Amino acid sequence: MATQHADVKRLRAPFDGFVVDGFNFTKTFPGCRHWLLTHAHSDHTCGLSGGFDAGTIYCSEVTKRLVTRDVSARLGERMVVINAGDSIYIEELSTTLTALDAGHCPGSLLFLLEHGPTKLCILHTGDMRASEHIRNQPLLTPFRDKTKKLDALYLDTTYANPKYDFPAQADACDEIKRIVREELRREPKTLFLCNTYSVGKENAFDAVVDASGGTLFVPPRRAESLRLCDRWRSCYTNDVNDPQVNVWVGGATSGVDQALGRDRDQKGPHGELKKLLDSHPRYEAVVSLRCTGWEYRPGKASSAVWAENDGCTRTYGVPYSEHLCGNHPPRHRRTQHTG
Ligand SMILES: [Zn+2]
Repeated sequence: MATQHADVKRLRAPFDGFVVDGFNFTKTFPGCRHWLLTHAHSDHTCGLSGGFDAGTIYCSEVTKRLVTRDVSARLGERMVVINAGDSIYIEELSTTLTALDAGHCPGSLLFLLEHGPTKLCILHTGDMRASEHIRNQPLLTPFRDKTKKLDALYLDTTYANPKYDFPAQADACDEIKRIVREELRREPKTLFLCNTYSVGKENAFDAVVDASGGTLFVPPRRAESLRLCDRWRSCYTNDVNDPQVNVWVGGATSGVDQALGRDRDQKGPHGELKKLLDSHPRYEAVVSLRCTGWEYRPGKASSAVWAENDGCTRTYGVPYSEHLCGNHPPRHRRTQHTG
C-alpha cells in the first residue's frame, strides 16, 4: 500500500512544486499546483474527488480513462496526459517532466524530473516492477552508463524490503502455465479461478487462459476496465455460460473473490469452492490460483498447493508480483515505505 505521509508525497526542493499521489494533502500544500499521478490503484488516488481544484494532474491516458470513470468525469478537465516516453517542460517550475513505464499495472508510470537551473535530477516511483525490460528503457540509458547522475530516488512502492525475493514475473507465469496443464491432465473438466485487482494481474490470468486453451469469463465492471486499458482479448467473454469458459477472474459479481477468500494459508476456501463446483455441474474440479506477492515464502520461489474434497478442490498460491521487491535495492534510495 502507498504511504500516506505528507513528507513522502511532496518532493524536496527544487521540485517542491510537485506532489505525487498525494491527493489527501491538497490543504497541507496549498501552493502546489502540479500533481503527479503514477497509476489508478485506489491507494494512490485516495483523496481525489470531482471537486479537486488544486491544480493540474499529470497521468497516462489509461490512468485518465480509469480515474474519470471511477472517481469523476469532471477530473478530465484538470488532467494533462503524459504517456511513457513523453516529456513536458513545465515553465513555471523550470522542470522537465518525463514519464517512463513502471511495469506495474496498465497505465502505470515512473516520473523523471530534471530542474533546468540546478541540473538536479530525480526519479519517483509509485508501484513498479523492476524487471529487465523496465530497467533497460532507453530513457534510463544515461543513468546506466553514468553519463548522467540521479540525485535522488523516491520509492512509494509496496514490498521495498529485502525480505522479499520474488521470482521474475515471466517465471511466475511459466509456473502458472505448468500448474494449469498439469491440472487439465488430471481432470480435463477443471474450472480455474484467478484473483485480480480492479486493474492489474492481467499477465497472470492471461497465463491461465493461454495454457488452458479455453475462454476467460470476466465480470462486467472488470471487462470495462480491460477495454479502457486496451487489454481486452478475443478469448475473453462476459457470458459465464459460454461452453468454452474454463477460467473465471475475480470481480464483485463473479463469486471468485468470495471463493478465493482471504485466508493466507489457502486452507480456508475449500468449502466455498465445493459449493461453487456443486452449482456448476459441467465442471468436475475447481482450482483456485491466488497470484500475488503475498504468497511469497522466504527461500521458496515455487507455488504451494492444498487439495481437499477428494482432490476436486485445489488451491495454489503463486508468488506472482507486479511490484519491485527488496532483493535488488537501488543504490540511491532516498525514501521508501512498505505497506
Ligand atoms: Zn498499484
